[in-house]
Amino acid sequence: MPQVDKTDRNTLIELSHAYGRDPRWVIAGGGNTSCKSDSTLTIKASGASLGTIGESGLVDLNRDRLQLLFEKAYADDEAQREREALEDLMNARADGQGDRRPSVETLMHEVLPRKFVVHTHPTLVNGLTCAADGERVARELFGDDVLWVPVVKPGYILGIEIHNRVMEFRSKQEKAPWLIMLANHGLVVAGDSAEEIHERQKAVIEAITSRIPVEVGTSPLRDTTADLVVQNSSQARRIADWTTVVQRALQSSDLKNPVIAFDTDANFLQYGDSSDPLAEALRLPFTPDHLVYALRTPIIARQTASDHLPTMVKRFRSDYGRLPRVVIVPGLGAFGVSASEAVSKAAAALALDALLIHRYAQSAGGPVFMPDEQIRFIEGWEVERFRLKASEEATK
Ligand SMILES: [Zn+2]
Repeated sequence: MPQVDKTDRNTLIELSHAYGRDPRWVIAGGGNTSCKSDSTLTIKASGASLGTIGESGLVDLNRDRLQLLFEKAYADDEAQREREALEDLMNARADGQGDRRPSVETLMHEVLPRKFVVHTHPTLVNGLTCAADGERVARELFGDDVLWVPVVKPGYILGIEIHNRVMEFRSKQEKAPWLIMLANHGLVVAGDSAEEIHERQKAVIEAITSRIPVEVGTSPLRDTTADLVVQNSSQARRIADWTTVVQRALQSSDLKNPVIAFDTDANFLQYGDSSDPLAEALRLPFTPDHLVYALRTPIIARQTASDHLPTMVKRFRSDYGRLPRVVIVPGLGAFGVSASEAVSKAAAALALDALLIHRYAQSAGGPVFMPDEQIRFIEGWEVERFRLKASEEATK
């Protein structure tokens, strides 16, 4: 069985690093990449991070066996269907893959008949995929080249949906799409070489920036892990005070050693001191990344009443069954909070990502959150719990 050869595997790793280390394309190790030969699909393992991936983060699958997933009739029961599909996905692996588990988005990669597929969650592109007129604007910009996929449940169902839509696209246009936009999720670009991927990614960003104004200085292109620029000593004092308040509120809800990441990006400050517009902008998640890392919604603290925070944290826990990951203080910035530094940073970065998506979507008919049904499905989905657990473990 001809495997994906060494040169292509190396190219795949280089592509993964190029996009995985750049927060314009993915935050918190999200997204996935693949490479294929006639018989084998080599894809990122679930839990591996694109930016740091090496050989041990790749899984080889037998493409003939993957085809079975498109043909088989699965159980109607949601949980059982997901279990069966996951089992078949694991069984489609080539020999000697250990306990590596293929990305949940494997089927989407298999469907595209190009050597390389890069799937990312770029903030700017999600400004369109999370917008009421996103599809119309995407057609304006990319014509027949773009395949738009509406919100469906992730994993197996998304794979089947994309499979059917790609088949339809191919029979109409006599070619396969190289560009897929997934509503409330992200971007997929396919190409036969690294150069082709780079050119196409660039073309997508240039086209969208011609339509959506990206202000200088508040660009999503900045490195969200960059050191803070604290304006003056009174701001520094407020940040220190609030850090203590946030820490204590979490401790009083049994998170013994909260690790706090703080971000004071200008986008958190543009809403001024009032909590209502922020609460509305981040009322629900836009994409699965927001939900997985930053949870349904942040706590928006009341500036003048820090003594209310422990109560707000307790209420959050009783409403959602988990501790909050993001506390935003209007006029000051966002605190990412969890037991792990990587997750706290990711949560703060994704809160910023969500605010930017909210703003960019204004240029395309206004923002659209993830549908409630989708949110509930992902909250209960074993596959996403696995992804999060793997990312938490990777930081230990
Ligand atoms: Zn994705």
